Amino acid sequence: MTVIEAIQQGSARLENAGVESPRLNAELLVGDVLRIHRLSLVLDSRRELTTEQFLALEEHLRRREAREPVQHILGTAEFYGREFRVNRHVLVPRPETELLAEWTLQTLAASSVEAPCLLDFGTGSGCLAITLALEQSTASVHAVDISAEALAVAKVNASALKAPVTFHLGDGFAALPGGLQFDGIVSNPPYIPSREIAGLDPEVRDHDPLLALDGGAEGLEFYRRLATEAPAWLKPGGWLALEFGDGQAADLLRIFGGAPWRGAEVRKDDTGRERMLRIFVAG
Ligand code: GLN
Repeated sequence: MTVIEAIQQGSARLENAGVESPRLNAELLVGDVLRIHRLSLVLDSRRELTTEQFLALEEHLRRREAREPVQHILGTAEFYGREFRVNRHVLVPRPETELLAEWTLQTLAASSVEAPCLLDFGTGSGCLAITLALEQSTASVHAVDISAEALAVAKVNASALKAPVTFHLGDGFAALPGGLQFDGIVSNPPYIPSREIAGLDPEVRDHDPLLALDGGAEGLEFYRRLATEAPAWLKPGGWLALEFGDGQAADLLRIFGGAPWRGAEVRKDDTGRERMLRIFVAG
């Protein structure tokens, strides 16, 4: 079988299995077994796969047909131009979360704080904390997660990418040493209403950790916690930058509607849906 045949047949199989973007997925999987970047495959399109490559591809395709996320099969996901290790213990980093990282960096650029102290609340793979530490080298970045398995992945990513992040294991602010005060807190917390999880795509429902998805009955539990607990951990004038689910903007604005919160701003993702909130504590 040649590379181009492998891509065509793989793509057809994935399409039949209901996989979104089947051609892209087939190219990623073929590229992985050949150890060639997807975009260079065209140069090798007539090359024959070895038996080992063919068998490895069969295994990849079988897993993807069973709707395992392509990032789990490859073991990596791209976020903000860097490769992160991922496995079933962490949420696969999403492109919309890159927009939260971007907004956070813009917020830092617009502020007069030279060496900001930041927190990533529920760091998962570490994608936000690590990106902030690398893009804003004057920042000291802390990250907390309740899952020891997730934190292990985040630490592997931080050391592979040489990102100076201080990790804390435990349930939110209770896991942090007293006395820390942040200029900003970012979070992409679990926000799916519990009863909606069963209806998600199999890639998410069966492979992202439940702990990273389930935001309680209305999906708002972590925002309520942040609204009441974060002010004590923020410096005067500090801010919170949050991702939330499609349709939750009004709930978020209500939850963060009272003192000491002020200056709420909502941003949309690339599909035009309101998905992020930035809000300040009184200065
Ligand atoms: N902060 C991580 C991310 O944005 C993990 C989020 C989560 O597990 N809910 O991908």
